[in-house]
Amino acid sequence: MGIIVQKFGGTSVADPQKIHNVAKAVIREKENGNDVVVVVSAMGHTTDYLIKLAKEVTSNPNSREMDMLLSTGEQVSIALLAMAIQSHGYKAISMNGQQVGIITECIHSKARIVDIKTEKLQKNLKEGNIIVVAGFQGVTPEGEITTLGRGGSDTSAVAIAAALNADRCDIYTDVEGVYATDPRIVPNIQKTDIISYEEMLELARVGANVLHPRSVETAKQFQVPLRVRSSFKLDNLGTLIIGVENMEIYKPVAGVAADSSQVRILLANLPDIPGTAADVFGALAKNNISVDMIIQSLANNGTNSIAFTIDEDDLDNALKILEDVKKEVKAGDILIDKDIAKVSIVGAGMVDRPGIAADMFRSLAENNINIKMISTSEIKISCLVEKDNAAPAIKALCKEFGLESSEMAVVKGDLPNV
Ligand code: ASP
Ligand code: MG
Repeated sequence: MGIIVQKFGGTSVADPQKIHNVAKAVIREKENGNDVVVVVSAMGHTTDYLIKLAKEVTSNPNSREMDMLLSTGEQVSIALLAMAIQSHGYKAISMNGQQVGIITECIHSKARIVDIKTEKLQKNLKEGNIIVVAGFQGVTPEGEITTLGRGGSDTSAVAIAAALNADRCDIYTDVEGVYATDPRIVPNIQKTDIISYEEMLELARVGANVLHPRSVETAKQFQVPLRVRSSFKLDNLGTLIIGVENMEIYKPVAGVAADSSQVRILLANLPDIPGTAADVFGALAKNNISVDMIIQSLANNGTNSIAFTIDEDDLDNALKILEDVKKEVKAGDILIDKDIAKVSIVGAGMVDRPGIAADMFRSLAENNINIKMISTSEIKISCLVEKDNAAPAIKALCKEFGLESSEMAVVKGDLPNV
């Protein structure tokens, strides 16, 4: 008997019938002899609806009040799920972030969890309850309600699993697991049986939106075995995500993903002196704006230009900040390119294997796809292309790296027993 944390997303709890199906999946785990904590998202498109509502009231809603508003979505679904479980004759209790003690930093709309109190969870489990916890939300030490960022319920679930030292965290979703790319783009794509935290983390960061990146980060940090599995086919084991040391990888590329939510900013004619880049990125960092790809190049007139990408949502804010920085550092024009998508290949197997980047660039060239910017990390290569080229690039790269057919499994040997 162990502790299992399950997480169900918005589509899995979209209506009363689906809530009953989730209740059955939860009860099944309880019947296996496990203590169960279930984390749920808001029903269906509730969060989108609440955001739209706020924007109808004011174009610039206050971020504290946004968190007050958005956190209500999950409070509805936890109460309904607890009722559904109880109606099947099982003990259940719903708890919101504050009741559990999911403590976060005080940054509204993208707070990070700093601590999870386990006393009340342990007490309720001991009393035989299935606990239904509101995902996506927490509370600051001062008692302010916060949210973790869109898709944050995955992170709530993994963090709770880590805090309780759970045996496993199962993320139930409407797909059967993790695929090497989006099956809507490449229908005959392989499903991955097992993948490392490192690869999943990179894939999640570069736009494979099956998991919230911070959930994978947390799983990796606390070594929580994660499964992504189908809420409709409960017998399927889906994809297991674990430490790389358990795997024998022989494919250089485990997945391909695209992210169309970024914009590129170019700062032209920056003085080529120490401290300029620090001033630019320091100002953005101070305002909590994350920067992704960065390229600095030297022009022959002795000035630099710096191009970088940020989330489209941060653009207005970034432009305000950069206008001030521009005066300070005496930069030239600020140019924006919104027609970009970042296409990335990810694979722990590319370490020490030369030629993967060249294969990627050649494959894009053969499909007449121009590369606007390139960045690499140990297990990832990303190319910025025009938005319309994202899907053709994904198709070409899946073919190039043998991810289409199911002939080759991603791992050799048996799956670890978790
Ligand atoms: N309900 C939140 C959202 O739609 C959190 C989540 O679903 O994970 O982003
Ligand atoms: Mg999600």
